Amino acid sequence: MKTDNKIVSDNLREEALDFALFEQAKNYALDYMENILNQPVYPDKAALDGLNAFKEPLQAEYGDPYEILAKLHNNGSPVTVAQTGGRYFGFVNGGIIPVALAAKWLSDTWDQNAALYVISPIASVLEEVCEKWLIDLLQLPANTAAGFVGGSSTATLCGLTAGRNHLLNKLGYDVSKKGLFGAPEIRVVLGEGAHSTVYKALSILGLGSERIIKVPEDNQGRINPDLVPELDERTLLILQAGNVNSGAFDDFNTLCQKAKKAGAWVHVDGAFGLWAAASDNLNHLTSGVGLADSWSVDAHKTLNAPYDNGIILCSNREALTSALHMTGSYIVYSEQRDGMLYTPDMSRRARIIELWATLKSLGKRGASELIEDLHDKSRYFAAALEKNGFLIKNEVCFNQILVSLGNSKTTEMVLQHIQNSQECWCGGAKWKNESVIRISVCSYRTTYEDIDRSVNAFVKAKKEVTSYSS
Ligand SMILES: *Cc1c(COP(=O)(O)O)cnc(C)c1O
Repeated sequence: MKTDNKIVSDNLREEALDFALFEQAKNYALDYMENILNQPVYPDKAALDGLNAFKEPLQAEYGDPYEILAKLHNNGSPVTVAQTGGRYFGFVNGGIIPVALAAKWLSDTWDQNAALYVISPIASVLEEVCEKWLIDLLQLPANTAAGFVGGSSTATLCGLTAGRNHLLNKLGYDVSKKGLFGAPEIRVVLGEGAHSTVYKALSILGLGSERIIKVPEDNQGRINPDLVPELDERTLLILQAGNVNSGAFDDFNTLCQKAKKAGAWVHVDGAFGLWAAASDNLNHLTSGVGLADSWSVDAHKTLNAPYDNGIILCSNREALTSALHMTGSYIVYSEQRDGMLYTPDMSRRARIIELWATLKSLGKRGASELIEDLHDKSRYFAAALEKNGFLIKNEVCFNQILVSLGNSKTTEMVLQHIQNSQECWCGGAKWKNESVIRISVCSYRTTYEDIDRSVNAFVKAKKEVTSYSS
């Protein structure tokens, strides 16, 4: 019997049982959680320079595990963007539901691979359970299939692949056999303000920019139904539940019915907005959305699940699984749910555990109240800004606010001052050819006090900018 290992195995096996190492990691994490509300919302230049400590060549010898953790905590923690605190309003980045984080710690030690039932029965069962819960929560057709992916970018790619292949199949063309060369032409219709990840997905799918018809939008970023061209059985129609800037929702009833009649496929990019369907007070926004064929949504945005939790939902299970199908001599599909049939990847971390914990923590009531709370706070934020002389450029129908100082130059300068304040963080955008400050109220951590404090930072920034220029 061979008895001597290379030192690597001995080292690592020893470390695997060194519980003090994991205690240390836990203590650093708790320390971080305790301080996050007081940490600057965005690191300043000096703090960012501390990241240079990581820019070193790979050393020749083994690293000490305690030193590795200490380096992360000392040089990393202070430079993180405090998006789990209450005053981060950038992009559409959600907070993190406490038990979902705790469940992630536990499931990280499981290190499950969600590819197949036989590799991880727990992941398979939780995916099956959450699929049903999501259908219920979002009021989607009963047989809707869900695939659990990294985010809406991938979810959209999956939905559009299913749609493209399904349309081609109906035209008698099997794209999985023949490839795209010589296929009947597929047309894409979307709103001018479609998210950039939609274009990315279309490009990957071989549906180049020249076959995209952009429909003009109204002043809120909604597709104008009267300007939608004639749809047919060769058309992919892409709608939005939540315009990434204004938060506006397309008119699903009108547009989906039109598409259905014509035999077109409808995909809805509902990255953060689809969750409006979970609230009785806000589900008028998603009215008719269930008539679409596929939907992409992120649990890591308004639902506050940890990254990376995206979902592709498709009313036609067969269209989704056939589009993502693969085979191999060693792949054994089972009678149970095999997660990889619903996603582009094979090996995949079991992100479903955090989604399950998130949904289980919130329940229907919590999901509804969380979404409504973000909406209420957005309205409060917008009203307070308006009272202080800021212009609000959108109807705050959901959780997004677009703010202007009247001209692009001043707006950009005020935004710069807000970002430098480290009191809160917002990004900027172009809206109808004008620069705006873009606020996304996306975390349950945000309190009314946080908003008051942020409004003060806005007011101070405005004073600073206007006193320079006068
Ligand atoms: C965030 C977002 C996306 C992209 O989602 P990821 O999870 O970042 O891949 C797509 N569409 C909209 C409307 C979004 O807000």
